Amino acid sequence: MRPLPESHHGTGSSPGCLAPLEIEDYAFEYVSETVRERIEEHLISCPRCCRLVSDELDLRDAFRLVLSETELGRRREPRRSRRGGSSLTTAAGFRVPTVSLDVSTHGAAVLAGVPLAAGEAVLLTIGAFTGPAIVRYCMQAGVEYRLGFEFTGVRTAAITAPP
Ligand SMILES: [Zn+2]
Repeated sequence: MRPLPESHHGTGSSPGCLAPLEIEDYAFEYVSETVRERIEEHLISCPRCCRLVSDELDLRDAFRLVLSETELGRRREPRRSRRGGSSLTTAAGFRVPTVSLDVSTHGAAVLAGVPLAAGEAVLLTIGAFTGPAIVRYCMQAGVEYRLGFEFTGVRTAAITAPP
């Protein structure tokens, strides 16, 4: 008889969920492309891990912001990816934490816990960048929503560093 498939071969944590070290490595971009894709695929369907990653990314961005104001920060930092902890503020002043999935000079895709209407204007904050944007699309992704934004201001260039 063949052995049973190892479907319950885990350590007790939910299958597919990210280990704390994985989250940290992901946030600091220490992971390979393959691993990152697997993680992001999981994040789209797992709000719990999303939240953990979002917190980690907030920490990372705060850390980088401090670094960037020191000599250390003068080192050329890979700018390939601006994936990071982010949030948006609606016209009504409601702040929504988000996880940014993809960012370009024209727009961004993020995960958020609430849906927004296409055409709605928001203030989008991604890491140290803040700028006005409008919703291009809103798709349900698990219990969260994947939102596509187009920047409508002077790109994202306003750095919100404290004096
Ligand atoms: Zn998970």
